Amino acid sequence: MALIRLYCSEDRFQIWQVKELLESRGIPCFVKNEFAIGAMGDLAPFDCAPEVWLTDDEWQPRAKRLLDDWLSEQRQCTQEWRCAHCQEDNGGGFEICWQCGEERPAETE
Ligand SMILES: [Zn+2]
Repeated sequence: MALIRLYCSEDRFQIWQVKELLESRGIPCFVKNEFAIGAMGDLAPFDCAPEVWLTDDEWQPRAKRLLDDWLSEQRQCTQEWRCAHCQEDNGGGFEICWQCGEERPAETE
């Protein structure tokens, strides 16, 4: 049993979302460096970014799977897509082109 770092992001909002996600599945975790941003001093920014840690590395495979699912969901929501019909760029939250009403193309990955 050991502490292990699961996730690191400059986006504190995302950090808390990950923590909530893990806790909702009963995975013990905590946030490190929560307040470090803005007080970086001589440290490299990466060292100061907030991190989500697991209190027990036995949870890692499960936590990692949850996190991967969650991240790909997030990507789909935030990724812009280009309309095949009118070439307009649309925000990830749109299912149809806001300009011409063409449907969003299926994920190609
Ligand atoms: Zn369009």
